[in-house]
Amino acid sequence: MAMEQNEQTAMLHVVFIPYAMTSHITPLVHIARLFALHGLKVTIIAPQHNALLFQSSVDRDRLFSGSNISVRTIQFPSEEVGLPEGIENFIGSPSMEIVGKVHYGFILLQKIMEQLIREINPNCIVSDMFFPWTVDLAEELQIPRFSFQPATFIHQCARVFIREFTPYKNVASDSERFLIPGLPLDIKMKISEIEDFHKEETEYTKTVDDVSQAEVRSHGIIHNTCSDLEPGFAQLYEKARGVKGWHIGPLALFIDKYEAEISSKQISNSNNSCSDPWKGYGDCFNWLEDQQPNSVLFVCFGSMIRFSDDQLKEMAVGLKAANCPTIWVFREQHKNEVDEKDRCDWSRNGSKEMIGEKMFIIQGWAPQLLILKHRAIGGFLTHCGWNSILESLAVGVPLITWPLFSDNFYTDKLLETLGLAIGIGGDVWNPGFILSSPPLSGEKIELAVKRLMNNSEESRKIRENAKLMAKKLKSATEEGGSSHSQLIGLIEEIKCCAFKKSS
Ligand code: UDP
Repeated sequence: MAMEQNEQTAMLHVVFIPYAMTSHITPLVHIARLFALHGLKVTIIAPQHNALLFQSSVDRDRLFSGSNISVRTIQFPSEEVGLPEGIENFIGSPSMEIVGKVHYGFILLQKIMEQLIREINPNCIVSDMFFPWTVDLAEELQIPRFSFQPATFIHQCARVFIREFTPYKNVASDSERFLIPGLPLDIKMKISEIEDFHKEETEYTKTVDDVSQAEVRSHGIIHNTCSDLEPGFAQLYEKARGVKGWHIGPLALFIDKYEAEISSKQISNSNNSCSDPWKGYGDCFNWLEDQQPNSVLFVCFGSMIRFSDDQLKEMAVGLKAANCPTIWVFREQHKNEVDEKDRCDWSRNGSKEMIGEKMFIIQGWAPQLLILKHRAIGGFLTHCGWNSILESLAVGVPLITWPLFSDNFYTDKLLETLGLAIGIGGDVWNPGFILSSPPLSGEKIELAVKRLMNNSEESRKIRENAKLMAKKLKSATEEGGSSHSQLIGLIEEIKCCAFKKSS
């Protein structure tokens, strides 16, 4: 007799493999939890200290929702790569040296992870994009492999077309903008804003190529994005890359809804983050309580960015002159990250002078999600990390964009085109998160903050657009919404592959 569909589903086993950045780990674990909540069996493979970032969420899901989800921990090769035990990711305050060693540790772990996956014998692998080898293993095991891309379709499409058509060769000077051909929106960029690997071979070129080749051999690519934010881009992506792109974001909204249901039953007090291990934010929420609605600017640049002291000083000048209540998050430079001659102690000591009635400084890790949800927050100055953008727009907070590295510039252009942000005027792409671009002046920072935080027609329009986008994103993750339908479709696709194989 044929097994009931639900029983069959419960036997389907999906393995998840997160990488080393918070912006990759958090959303991938969200997908794992959502799959388990929809009845699949899920195993997440991670080194033990990284697993601590999400173990409690997983345990709660098992306990309160009956999810069949578990974590298989592996030993990170700390000694072999020359790291103290416990450093297995780039969260907090990485240096380039630490990043290199952590990455190397994950390369060394490949054999162990392969072995474990063979033992588990899953029906599907969902792997971070930075493990291209999982596509070979999936082919060997004859199971589908999905790659997880935590960012946008637009940057992937733009990269394809910039590579193919080299439009930057048609401009006469660095200040002239060129149109990226083939996109559904008019996106214009300067040469200084695109990644260096378009223009020359770099250390990163091989990684980009490996990731990209593994993607086109995958069963599909999962993106934490939404068709309301990137209209027409999923179809373009599939045409340009020849692989199905699933868009199931903002993932945090699905998890938020589920967490709210649990806490209404008084059984959870989670803040929807699997990466909030530091509590250096003092009485930030008491301070926020004293502020007017929509009056506070939140300034935070993701999990990795390191500014020079010169840039921090300019930022201090700009933020002070803008004279708007502000929460400013930054991390101190480590001595080995910058030339000794460039060092001054501003980040450690000078910043203390900034603390005042209108300035709350968090030197360390901020509870960003909770801060953005506070009614007092009226704007977010961000480097355009995609998770930060989704977190802000999900609660209708408008943005000031200061793109700095990675795919930030494509996101910046997208947000500007959608009328959700004011650009600060940063136009130099940095090859890494320890920034080398010339400091942006305090005047530019002051001007952008004033443009968003005052009550001009321009800022009212942007604020309205952000609120509207929040509604659209919420609808997208509700039953019948685009991201919800994609999520269900993705789970059905995995079932279909598994049932086809077994029949
Ligand atoms: N984040 C946080 N507190 C901080 C800095 C960052 O909670 O002090 C979280 C933030 O909420 C987001 C992630 O770290 O989920 C940063 O990801 P994003 O894609 O924005 O930037 P990246 O770190 O990749 O540059």
